[in-house]
Amino acid sequence: MVIITGASSGIGEAAAKRLAKEGAKVVLGARRRDRLAKIAGAIVEAGGEAVFQEMDVTRQSDNDEIVRLAKETFGGVDAIFLNAGLMPSSPVSALKTDEWNRMVDVNIKGVLNGVAAVLPTFIEQKSGQVIATSSVAGLKAYPNGAVYGGTKWFVREFMEVLRMESAMEGTNIRTATIYPAAIRTELLDTITDGQAAEAMHGLYEKFGISPERIADVVAFALDLPEDTTVNEFTVGPANQPW
Ligand code: NDP
Repeated sequence: MVIITGASSGIGEAAAKRLAKEGAKVVLGARRRDRLAKIAGAIVEAGGEAVFQEMDVTRQSDNDEIVRLAKETFGGVDAIFLNAGLMPSSPVSALKTDEWNRMVDVNIKGVLNGVAAVLPTFIEQKSGQVIATSSVAGLKAYPNGAVYGGTKWFVREFMEVLRMESAMEGTNIRTATIYPAAIRTELLDTITDGQAAEAMHGLYEKFGISPERIADVVAFALDLPEDTTVNEFTVGPANQPW
């Protein structure tokens, strides 16, 4: 049983479909209810099990609610894929401070809220897996990505400490952090800066790969035996030189 945030498009949608196809029960969360209903409907029609909840990851109560829904519907939570995010790239000098704050709220606080919602359950059952979507921008600095990259660096650090502390505390909570490169999704739609959008679209046209490739990695991480954590996955196109 897996909760997926940011499940209404892109990587989250691909992961939901892939995991459900392999027999996982999935609970989908995002703000666009119509999209979630369509995706969950397609999964059920194909013989899988899926429910959904309209949620904003920046609200703690929405995160608590989706965990409650998962437990009520499927009797427990084995894993959570904290994947909701946005990337309104721009140079610092453009001072798009509203977008900076939005990225902090969704990409950082959204992850914290999800972990806060699920951790009591994982600690109690002494098992669980937290998977999070960072980015190659969480490993390396890129122009136009000062704030976005910063939020993704945060995810890396937080997930690594969560992994260490869970091992030290004997709670057996596994982590997997994914660092995608250019993945063809709706992510670039969040860019409002003209030159940043142009540069990104050019890059994605040349190097973009399908979100199903990230779904493959999520499925692999979930499939590992309970005593094994393979913590960090960088996933990108084979022809990527940067
Ligand atoms: P999409 O734009 O297709 O998906 C983003 C998802 O996040 C949507 O389902 C969106 O749903 C959801 N979301 C955004 N804000 C909120 C919110 N406040 N509350 C709940 N859900 C929210 O892009 P991707 O699939 O590419 O993005 C998924 C993750 O992958 C992001 O964290 C992104 O940073 C990361 N990533 C993507 C890369 C790429 O090249 N595409 C590269 C590296 C990392 P809704 O609008 O319905 O709420």
